[in-house]
Amino acid sequence: MSNNDYILNLLNFKDKNIYILQNSIKNKTIKGKNTKIIEGFLSYKPKCCPCCGVINESSSDIIKWGFRKNCKIKIPKISNCNSLLILHKQRFYCKHCNNTFIAETNLIDRNKNISNNSELQIRLELMKKQSEKDIAERVNVSVSKVDHVLNEISKKTVLRHEHLPKQMNWDEFKATNDTKGKMAFIITDNKSGTIFDIQDSRKSIDLNKYFRRYSKNERDKVRLISTDFYTGYIHLAEKLFKNADIVIDRFHIVIQAYNALNTTRVKLCYKSNPNYNKLKTYWKLIVKNENDLSDKKKYSKYFKKDISQKEIVTYLINTNKTLKATYECYQGIINSIKNKDLNKFKNIIYHQDINISDKMQKALKLYRKNIKYIENSFKYIINNGVVEGTNNLIKSIKRVAFGYRKYSHFIARVFLIKGIIKG
Ligand SMILES: [Zn+2]
Repeated sequence: MSNNDYILNLLNFKDKNIYILQNSIKNKTIKGKNTKIIEGFLSYKPKCCPCCGVINESSSDIIKWGFRKNCKIKIPKISNCNSLLILHKQRFYCKHCNNTFIAETNLIDRNKNISNNSELQIRLELMKKQSEKDIAERVNVSVSKVDHVLNEISKKTVLRHEHLPKQMNWDEFKATNDTKGKMAFIITDNKSGTIFDIQDSRKSIDLNKYFRRYSKNERDKVRLISTDFYTGYIHLAEKLFKNADIVIDRFHIVIQAYNALNTTRVKLCYKSNPNYNKLKTYWKLIVKNENDLSDKKKYSKYFKKDISQKEIVTYLINTNKTLKATYECYQGIINSIKNKDLNKFKNIIYHQDINISDKMQKALKLYRKNIKYIENSFKYIINNGVVEGTNNLIKSIKRVAFGYRKYSHFIARVFLIKGIIKG
């Protein structure tokens, strides 16, 4: 290996036409940062003229014609030190067409000042959970450069899957302010728990168009769609997926009753209520499954005595008859779901206690309206982790994409990190 090859190898330059000048490596402070500067030149014997196409056979065809000097190229850091290559590119002269042209290298694309190695590094860094600012710092480029690379990638995020998942979950989340339909729509594969696709609108008209890209035959293969109570989704699922059972997942069923109970409690949290502090402090115990409440007595400064969780809840719900009825309704619902007891669930929603709060009445009405799909959730054993997984997925997406204003960039980043597309 020649000395030059040795250096090229160290720098990970694949182009053997680059010659690093001996003793050229200097350290210089640029923008307050210690920077390694490497100087070299690029030259070779061109095969032909890019202007007229003549084959270069001898010096009567193409000759060397000086250099384009001092092209500054950002390269990946060396031992964590910012690095810059000063490259002198050979100029050629074609005797047939009298044009000149500049030597090219795979180290860098034409009209760019950042090496392909650096660009590759940006792409790899974008796959990790970190901010664009951190990436820019790491690769020694500007944030706008990182943004530019992401822009290129975002042109490739239109996924075209051949098949739909046989079992899928539909959900939505708030992405960026420029999201077309205000909320983004996310499809996860229930079997693998992975993202299948994300769309920038959850509007029926857009989703209709999206799903109709798949043939009827393909759509008919879908067996199960789990979703929340959003009527738009339910209508769409019924219309487009004739063989699919629609399931409202347990998470979304429970959350309705949970919110109803919590609102009922909050309504009692007014200052003049003598139990204000207790109702405010012990909210977690009220929404907890009553079977999980402890009997063990502990000192409570609000009760000024030793008292168990069970006793606290019993005391609090008995301060108000609406709260008590709503609490019992909630406990019945969560336990019938937990024990997969559909009869008990139906009994609660069709024979409601007259004392339950307005919010809980609303929740029960929603259950009755959608009982067909709720029944399916008692019938099917859907991995609870899928819905939870989707929620966590959305949370982690938001953390990653924090600060993105452009939906296309946001999605590109999510797909990169989740390995759905390759940079
Ligand atoms: Zn020529």
